[in-house]
Amino acid sequence: IGDHTDKYIQAYFQYDSKKTGGVTVSHLRFGDKPIKSPYYINQADFVACHNPSYVTKGYKMVQDVKPGGIFMINCQWDDKELGEKLNAAAKKYIANNNIQVYTINAIDKAIEIGMGKRTNTILQSAFFKLANVMPIDKAVQFMKEAAKKSYGKKGDAVVEMNYKAIDAGVDALHKVEVPASWSKPEADAAVPALQGRPATVKMVENLLNPIALMDGDSLPVSAFVDYTDGQFEIGASAYEKRGIAISVPEWDAEKCIQCNNCAFVCSHATIRPFMLSKDEVKAAPANIKLADTKPKAGEYKFTMSVSPLDCMGCGECVTVCPVPDKAIKMVPQETQVDEQPVFDYLVANVGKKPGVPADTTVKGSQFNQPLLEFSGSCAGCAETSYARLITQLFGEQMYISNATGCSSIWGGPAATSPYTVNKDSKKGPAWTNSLFEDNAENGFGIYLGQNTLRNHAIEKAEKIAASEKASEAYKAAFAKFIETKDNTKENTA
Ligand code: SF4
Ligand code: SF4
Repeated sequence: IGDHTDKYIQAYFQYDSKKTGGVTVSHLRFGDKPIKSPYYINQADFVACHNPSYVTKGYKMVQDVKPGGIFMINCQWDDKELGEKLNAAAKKYIANNNIQVYTINAIDKAIEIGMGKRTNTILQSAFFKLANVMPIDKAVQFMKEAAKKSYGKKGDAVVEMNYKAIDAGVDALHKVEVPASWSKPEADAAVPALQGRPATVKMVENLLNPIALMDGDSLPVSAFVDYTDGQFEIGASAYEKRGIAISVPEWDAEKCIQCNNCAFVCSHATIRPFMLSKDEVKAAPANIKLADTKPKAGEYKFTMSVSPLDCMGCGECVTVCPVPDKAIKMVPQETQVDEQPVFDYLVANVGKKPGVPADTTVKGSQFNQPLLEFSGSCAGCAETSYARLITQLFGEQMYISNATGCSSIWGGPAATSPYTVNKDSKKGPAWTNSLFEDNAENGFGIYLGQNTLRNHAIEKAEKIAASEKASEAYKAAFAKFIETKDNTKENTA
């Protein structure tokens, strides 16, 4: 548009903190006068949703279209299915504001043309067809010239594929006849009440859920009153259930040799081993897969459980499985829906059993609860595997002074902290992030402060243990504290 018209242009891109499967919102303005609008567009002539999962997740999108404007959705649905997928608020807004709705199936079209998952060229020409920024013939001509310039070196076949994609975007649009019933839509199904730590649940309901639905900008300042000092509740990432993996692992109880390598490498703590007592087996969902413990059957049963809605689909767990024909394989996510209640049951109810190998072994470490889980790092990120492992070994006594960068983005996005607490002790890592390159000084300051407080506490405990005035019970308790003060497993005070 900038090259071929006299229009002024502004482009601003709004990026998600999530590395894999995150959302990007592109705000584009065109005009005949210079554009001086340093803020997002929230009343657009045209809004396009390039990913159908944003509709099924209920993201607030169509409300950003001005009355009479255009809403285009890339999806494989017919009109009836679209009506089933849109939520009540979206349908009502469309009907009451005379929004023109178009669908385009760029997903199948791109595959048919040979472009695989690359739908952008098709959707770009669909934009030109609907947005009317310039005559469509001219737009097609300019897009084809640009494709020739960009892909000419890759050969005629690639250029031809792009030409087909450009033509497809113009031809494959479908106008949806908006039914009158959308002005009074049926209410959406009730959302089940959230379970968990009350403070985290409150924050998830008040902050995380609206933000996750792309409606964070509508939150009033008062929604943040409980968090004005920058402290957010931990453990909130467990409520995201982003469901972004196309394929997730499926475990084979018979083939598995129970080495726990798969859990050891998982960046997101979405595959975990458990040992279950007879009572825990009885209370588990009926579809749980179990095996006798190996190498010798014992009193507990073993399972390796996957959280399909948290898994990122990286396949690292399959890569490291040492069984020659693999005891886990990647399968379509939708085939594993029934595994989610199993994972949720195990995480909430099943703890570490006596007699498992030591924490210092790969196998033993993985029976400890990870206190870093479901982070928004890239799928297969090695850094979060290390950080997760450290929390499994030392997480209940850990202070993290984080430098700004990747690890602060996956480690501390406001309202979706992936650090959490041990379900029994209720203790977990404390995380802080100061400025860009001062994490060493910041962490050293925290260490000195904590050490001073600890030394004062030890001094007082020693005085009480030696005092004539203290009762025998107090003396014994403080003597025990002093005796075990350097043993983090025995001394949890
Ligand atoms: S596919 Fe990746 S994210 Fe999913 S369970 Fe395996 S290692 Fe974890
Ligand atoms: S890596 Fe393979 S063999 Fe080892 S526990 Fe996981 S599934 Fe079983």
